[in-house]
This record gives sequence, C-alpha cells and structure tokens, in this order.
Amino acid sequence: MRPFERRISRRAMLARTAQVAATAAVASTLHDPQASAIESEATSTAVWDMHGHLTGVSGTPEERITQLLTYADRMGIEKVIIFLGFGREHEPSPEQFRRDNDVLLRALDQARDRALGFVYLNPKFTDESLKELDRCVRDGPMVGVKLWVALRCHDERLDPIVERATELKAVVFQHTWLKTTGNLPEESTPSEIAQLAARHPNATLIAGHLGGDWERGIRSIRASQNVYAGISGSDPTAGMVEMAVRELGAERVIYGSDFGGRSLASQLAKVYGADISQEAKRLILGGNIRRLLRPILTAKGMTL
Ligand SMILES: [Zn+2]
Repeated sequence: MRPFERRISRRAMLARTAQVAATAAVASTLHDPQASAIESEATSTAVWDMHGHLTGVSGTPEERITQLLTYADRMGIEKVIIFLGFGREHEPSPEQFRRDNDVLLRALDQARDRALGFVYLNPKFTDESLKELDRCVRDGPMVGVKLWVALRCHDERLDPIVERATELKAVVFQHTWLKTTGNLPEESTPSEIAQLAARHPNATLIAGHLGGDWERGIRSIRASQNVYAGISGSDPTAGMVEMAVRELGAERVIYGSDFGGRSLASQLAKVYGADISQEAKRLILGGNIRRLLRPILTAKGMTL
C-alpha cells in the first residue's frame, strides 16, 4: 500500500470508529438509567418546594410531616425540603442543633419519598458543626446545610463548613434579609453571601428570601454565579420574580414557600402569576433545585 492510500484508509477507519462511537453513545443514552434520569430531569414539570419547616401543625415529627404533605398534595407539590426542628433557637448550642436535627431525621424517615432535609448548624461551633454535618449528610440522609442567624455569613468561621459541604456536594442554604427595621445582630445580608461565594467558587449557595428587600437583594448577588436566589417568604409582590429572572436568569431562581410560616398558595402564586415564560416557571418550580441536588442524590444512590 502506498502512503497516500494508507492515509485514506486510516481516515476511513477513523470515520468508521467515530460512527460506531456515536451509535454506541445514542444506544447508551437510550439504555443507561443515569442518562434517562438526566433527560427526564431536563423536562420534568414536578414542583419541589425547597424551603419548609415542621411548623404550623402540631404533634410528633411524623404526624407533622404527614399533615404538611397533605397540604402539599392539595397544591400539587411533589417534594419538599425541610430544615430546623421544634427548637428554632437563633444561636443554638451543639446540643440544641443536634436535637433539632434528630427531630428532622424522624420526619425524613417518615416521608422518605417526599421529603429531603438540610442539616441545621451554628458556625460559631466549628468542630461540633463539622461532626454534625458528617453525621447527618455524609453518614445520614440529609442533602444540604441550613444556616440561619447565628453568625453573619461573610465571617471566616463559615469557611470550614462550606468547604466540607462542597466536598460532600451538599447545597448550602443561607437565610438573608435586608430589613427596613434593621437586622438581628448576626443576621446576614445578600451582599455578605456574595462575599462568602467569592471565597468558595465551587460551593452551591442559596440566598434565602431574596434578601427581603428584593430589589437590592437581587442586585447584590447578581455577579455571584454560584449564588442562587430563594424566593421564599415575604408577600407575593408584583415584579419580584420577573426582576430575578431578568437580572439573574431563570436558572438561578428557586421556588420555596417557607411553610408553615407562609401559605403554599400565596408563595406558588408568585411564580404562577409572574410574567415569565413557561420554561422559566418550570426551572424555578423544580428544575433548578433538582439540577443542584442531582450530584449529591446520585452520590447517595437516592432518586430524583
Ligand atoms: Zn424558613
């Protein structure tokens, strides 16, 4: 064979190889359960509520989650993400946050297919928080971290917790507010979560409540690509979701209600009534949180 013929022949062989590889890729997409899960995630219209608590109802953790899920059923919500137990201490001691998380674990156990949980921590107690993160997320069923008002979130004491959460592929939900009446001493603002995000570009962070004063909140996190906007809580003010979509993109806006402190209907109405596309609504109501949780759910062998 002359060199030229050999080149042609090699080219033909490479083309054939590429064709075989492409056919195999299509075949594996059709038969690989992982690939079909990604496919269905990209089109699913299921509603997930990413922010709720075991409040507004009474009884044991099992009775409360059961009751809350009947409300969710009524509103067409497939899954809920819950955090905090019965205590709701602003600055919980390690003993208190462990007790809160034990309550949550009972509720999660009762509603395995319907509820996911985030572990509640206090970053002022680094070692105890890391141990609790390991207990509930690494070794337990929880899939994220909830940080509330124990310490403002730009504080470097959050770093070890966010680093460990990122290693575990866990989502970090940070309550943020800009109250016109003034924040609590250790209550975080959206610009403080932007500072935290700059130190942890690989972390997945959600700024809860869009900061309350949402026009400033949205602008504060706009440049932080790994910060997502939780739209839970506050009144369903006209223009809020529209501005979040316009400034951040629909893929960075996430529905949550903050039940039972807020009604599911009023919080869902923020999205259903917004002047945005159907695809944007699908992402906000469930597509985005499923995408963010997919790595940890996959690592844990849990289904979406
Ligand atoms: Zn809440």
